[in-house]
Amino acid sequence: MQLAKRLEKIPPYLFAEINRKREELVAQGVDIINLALGDPDKPTPAQIIQVMHEAIDDASTHNYPPYQGTQEFREAVTKWMERRFGVTQLNPNTEVISSIGSKEAIHNTFLAFVEAGDYTLIPDPGYPVYRTSTIFAGGEPFTMPLKAENNFLPDLSAIPEAVARKTKLLWINYPNNPTGALATLEFFKELVDFCKQYNILLCHDHAYSEMAYDGYKPPSVLQVPRAKDIAIEFHSLSKSYNMTGWRIGFVVGNAIGIQGLRQVKTNVDSGVFKAIQKAAIAAYSTSDAELQAVMSVYQNRRDIIVQGLQSLGWPIEPPQATLYVWVPVPPRYSSTEFVSLLLDKCGIIVPPGNGYGAAGEGFFRIALTIPDERMHEAIKRMKDAGIRYA
Ligand SMILES: *Cc1c(COP(=O)(O)O)cnc(C)c1O
Repeated sequence: MQLAKRLEKIPPYLFAEINRKREELVAQGVDIINLALGDPDKPTPAQIIQVMHEAIDDASTHNYPPYQGTQEFREAVTKWMERRFGVTQLNPNTEVISSIGSKEAIHNTFLAFVEAGDYTLIPDPGYPVYRTSTIFAGGEPFTMPLKAENNFLPDLSAIPEAVARKTKLLWINYPNNPTGALATLEFFKELVDFCKQYNILLCHDHAYSEMAYDGYKPPSVLQVPRAKDIAIEFHSLSKSYNMTGWRIGFVVGNAIGIQGLRQVKTNVDSGVFKAIQKAAIAAYSTSDAELQAVMSVYQNRRDIIVQGLQSLGWPIEPPQATLYVWVPVPPRYSSTEFVSLLLDKCGIIVPPGNGYGAAGEGFFRIALTIPDERMHEAIKRMKDAGIRYA
């Protein structure tokens, strides 16, 4: 049996080597602290679960859903976009589509728009799907390095003209995984102008739109006037509402973008279970106070990690959004060396920054998805092992 060549071109799974080591240590009886998982550990808020219980008992949810999402879901989405971002005049029939989590929609966007030889512009470090789905579609990923000195924003002036002219999609993700960086509306406007100049579909992966702290509210790229001419935005309930296993999100914006997604979707899957769409509508009517309660758990953990690392000499500031803290490795270590040291000396698992792209070298990522006590324990183990930023 021979696997397709396209699978050979996919880079090895980021966590493969880490998982192998972890299993070895667990077998030796080591108590592992896993700070690697971008998957909330808390349950979905109770009122969402309640709506799901009722929706399952309603037989009208049991047949195939509409591919693009129910009318009710798409209208709830346009209302939420207006309430949350002040983005008005989204047409629920042509400018919104439901997705089975955003990963599905992200992948399908490449199938809908990228042909052999086309470029995609993708962030480095970045969510690995942008690269692998470019390869699946036969395109060429061209990376935009996210550097600390640019506040982890891509430098558009560094993109060669010849590449820009052959580019179909430009991907951004703010608040950013893995760096925790933020983008301003002014920066979004620069991106919209750049993409209009080269006729590129601007794709904003907004997976962390609600995961923000200290009162910060991340903007939508669709707040830029006329962004809809060129941009689509990917939303997900996974992280913000502790719903990673439910698999629901949506895409909004440019009608041709949505039409492309719909055409792929009708041939690949059959939409999201209608009961889950009802639960998602309930999620979008979560009050600010309830959402704040979900976020305060992460904000507190962020403070434990950041203050703990600062006490060990680390020059870091608390990120204002996402589930992650992006941490520089001490001088003289590579990312891989330092991550191995944390595992061997402290039983702590974190992904090395270069696992998210070459420009992630020199960093590692901490996920805020384990209980407070375990975060305190992780810092204590580092301290006891004499690990400092020096
Ligand atoms: C988690 C994540 C996603 C995927 O989320 P879904 O569960 O598929 O909705 C997409 N983009 C980024 C940057 C993520 O971190």
